[in-house]
Amino acid sequence: MVVVMEVGADESQIESVIATLSDHGFDVHRSSGSQRTVLGAVGVQPDFDKRHIELLEGVYTVHRVSEPYKFASRSWKKEPTEAKVGNVVIGGKELAVMAGPCSVESEEQIHASAEAVAKAGARILRGGAFKPRSSPYSFQGLGEDGLKMMRKAADAHGLAVVTELMDPSHADLMARYTDMVQIGARNMQNFPLLRVAGQLGLPVLLKRGLSATIQEWLMSAEYILAEDNPNVVLCERGIRTFETMTRNTLDLSAVPVLKARSHLPVIVDPSHGTGIRNKVIPMARAGVAAGADGLMIEVHPDPDTALSDGPQSLYFSQFEELMTQIRRIAEVIGRKVV
Ligand code: PEP
Ligand code: MN
Repeated sequence: MVVVMEVGADESQIESVIATLSDHGFDVHRSSGSQRTVLGAVGVQPDFDKRHIELLEGVYTVHRVSEPYKFASRSWKKEPTEAKVGNVVIGGKELAVMAGPCSVESEEQIHASAEAVAKAGARILRGGAFKPRSSPYSFQGLGEDGLKMMRKAADAHGLAVVTELMDPSHADLMARYTDMVQIGARNMQNFPLLRVAGQLGLPVLLKRGLSATIQEWLMSAEYILAEDNPNVVLCERGIRTFETMTRNTLDLSAVPVLKARSHLPVIVDPSHGTGIRNKVIPMARAGVAAGADGLMIEVHPDPDTALSDGPQSLYFSQFEELMTQIRRIAEVIGRKVV
């Protein structure tokens, strides 16, 4: 941590800051110029609240130089993590594509979706059985029936399953049907849920919160990793900004930032990221080009009658087209799509 004192801070103020830092267990190195004094505080204190120093008399500014997360960081683990979901690896050379409807609606709908996405080259079937809807009057998902339908459809087409865990009390139920649990954007900072997801032992797809910074997102990943579950995959799904032309703003710069800071695989979800069907393919291409380890795409046999997120869901033919395009982009950057 670096503490910059105000111009004209007097000796007693500087000494009081040094004493406070020492009391908190830091080694302090002092450097005084003609105008200002700068204090370097060395010590591993991931939990330290820098406001303890900011509020002292004579302090101008305080900067942390170390990351508050440990297991999620590149400095802790240099090699990229490869998360295994069923028999699919996320984070290797091959891109992992997860696709399917927003919600599981019926046996026919999920079977048709599984067949189409598998044929086009997706390896993981997505679909919600418990849906986090903004309105309590909207379709909330089919619950366990939806999970059963999804498992059956995935098995019939050699796909793994990813679905959202919304409630800690559903954890055991989830474990019976899914290969990966999704933590939705609205629950990114639901800390008891993160712990439960970590304890389940299944790989976890952690979506970025609607207004979460990258650091907050990595701190949420840390909750899961701290439960001894190394298989965390981050999913950029767009954040809230002042822009209204798209549902969210897909922050693709998060991909290279995460790759530099963390060893965890990163997936891009342009469906929720844009919220508009004809924006999904261009942003999926961009996500792959930015270095994502895979994509999550909403696809529906009849998007116009979908019970949730129809306007951002692709028709089967569009999904096929998307897969053809990303196959070519993947090749250019040394990646592969089956
Ligand atoms: C979803 O994947 O359907 C979903 C609800 O995503 P998010 O949590 O990103 O809104
Ligand atoms: Mn959705």
